Amino acid sequence: MDFMNSYLSENVKNLIPYVAGLQPQGPGWIKLNTNENPYPPSVKVMRTIIAADTEMLRLYPDGESTALKEAIAANLDLDLGLCHKNIFCGNGSDEVLALAFQAFYSGKVNVLTPDISYGFYPVWGDMYNVKLEFRPLGEDFTIDPNDYKDANGVVIANPNAPTSLALELSQIEQILHQNPKGVVLVDEAYINFANVDSAVSLLPKYENLLVVRTFSKSHSLAGMRVGYAIGHPKLIKALGLVRDAFNSYPLDMLAQTAAIAAIKDNIHLFKTCKQVIKTREETAKNLQKIGYQVLPSQTNFLLIKTPAAEELYKHLLKNKILARYWLKPRLSHFLRVTIGTDKEMEAFIKCVQEFANAKQTKQM
Ligand code: PMP
Repeated sequence: MDFMNSYLSENVKNLIPYVAGLQPQGPGWIKLNTNENPYPPSVKVMRTIIAADTEMLRLYPDGESTALKEAIAANLDLDLGLCHKNIFCGNGSDEVLALAFQAFYSGKVNVLTPDISYGFYPVWGDMYNVKLEFRPLGEDFTIDPNDYKDANGVVIANPNAPTSLALELSQIEQILHQNPKGVVLVDEAYINFANVDSAVSLLPKYENLLVVRTFSKSHSLAGMRVGYAIGHPKLIKALGLVRDAFNSYPLDMLAQTAAIAAIKDNIHLFKTCKQVIKTREETAKNLQKIGYQVLPSQTNFLLIKTPAAEELYKHLLKNKILARYWLKPRLSHFLRVTIGTDKEMEAFIKCVQEFANAKQTKQM
């Protein structure tokens, strides 16, 4: 009997899953491949977890994450009049995004997204029967808002990944203006490292805007798996319907508590983001000194252009430094590197310099 043909559903037979970056478990690695934060979360997170009432773990958590939603709402610009009804929480923004694909795009055609963006979007497109239309980025990897018109939905990461580039708020508004028919999803996973404004300020004006964010990057909580969406209460309700048809309690009790402590500590957030941005700019300068082109990043990673990207990836790997390389159209000459601590980036630059020197010697 053919195992694959007899047991698997049609959907799963043809499924091409998202391939996440390696998560090595041994010591000694410099991990610059999954855009995690190099700094620990706020000490307030640690204190909250230690003080948590473990007796309560026998109960299911609050499926609505009410206290967390209230804490997120309180942290938004109060003038916008947003409250917990505008917020939806999920098990990482990956889950929030997957539920949004199901709630707003499933079965639809003409849902627009850039040809180079977060690798999970096409996977959810296939999984939930969405006919995604890929709009090519410009030669310089920028998004042209004029390419996004009259769609049944738009999915844009801002800043975009892995390009690291961001659209201005006026460009996001142009996209919203041109697409009144479907939900415009703006994935702001990296917004706290950018110097463009968040699309949250546009929420009172556009009921079809959904902004998705995560605690994984700027709040150093990738291990907790907490993401959220901000949007019109009707969109939020729709996300809740899909969630309740899938998993009523997606966020565990400790994750909710930890995220509440994290969102309240803005001082820690600003301090760590500022440091990551400083290290990013220094690393970019050092790479340029070696002779590499680097895109002007608005994120916690750099996209480096080099015809020898795969070779460089392998050289770094040999030296226990993990970066991200894709053998994909338009990306095979690029390497993505997450910003680590200054010490980690020094080791990275040293390794890149050795690689460049060896290449030069070979050419002589
Ligand atoms: N959106 C983008 C653009 C990302 O790069 C990532 C991280 N891989 C995510 C969403 C998902 O983040 P998480 O599920 O950890 O919240």
